[in-house]
Amino acid sequence: MQRLAIFGGTFDPIHWGHLLVAETALSQVHLEQVIWVPSRNPPHKQAALFEHRVVMLQLATKNNPAFTISLIDRERSGKSYAINTLIDLSACYPNTHWYWIIGLDAFQTLPRWYRGHELAQMCDWLIAPRLLGGETIAQSELICKQVEQQVRKQSHTINWQLLHTPLVKVSSSIIRELCYQNHSIIDLVPESVRLYIATHNLYSHNPE
Ligand code: ATP
Repeated sequence: MQRLAIFGGTFDPIHWGHLLVAETALSQVHLEQVIWVPSRNPPHKQAALFEHRVVMLQLATKNNPAFTISLIDRERSGKSYAINTLIDLSACYPNTHWYWIIGLDAFQTLPRWYRGHELAQMCDWLIAPRLLGGETIAQSELICKQVEQQVRKQSHTINWQLLHTPLVKVSSSIIRELCYQNHSIIDLVPESVRLYIATHNLYSHNPE
């Protein structure tokens, strides 16, 4: 059985935090591939054009042969629900043990996702510690255990492990805000992504 991980997100834009998390997942659980799945129509966010987000993903991931981008979400109408992504990808990749890469902030909300309890037991969860309010790694573990309890209350099981990444403060919203204010994002995204954002005037008051 091959071991594949889905890394879903808005990636608006992709940044070094995402890349570090994906690289760590690859080596920590010996994955064959990380499949990046940009959501076309995220249930909880407004985002830049799907096509721009995809090009930035391509630029940032092209040097790692273990990274694949799936545009499975583009074909679907309506909101982008994670459970549909997993079901559709399972049909494309038979004989697969599935993992899902996720930041602690998003994992915390899993019990409230559309069919979240069901999704919880359909794959193993690889959780990247993330600063929500000054947590230490030990506190991250506690938060994960709380999510596990909520899922178990609904008679579902969940397998999860924390990724051994340092806490990285960067987020897409910080990057967008810096761009709006004409500040540099030089150390926060790969250079190719930075140039793409500048060329297309993304995250300015007059985007292309
Ligand atoms: P935004 O700031 O717009 O909310 P984001 O930086 O959280 O965006 P997303 O594309 O929404 O980026 O994130 C995709 C996944 O990556 C989510 O599970 C999120 O928790 C995780 N993630 C993003 N940045 C980090 C980071 N610095 N450390 C750990 N996980 C992260």
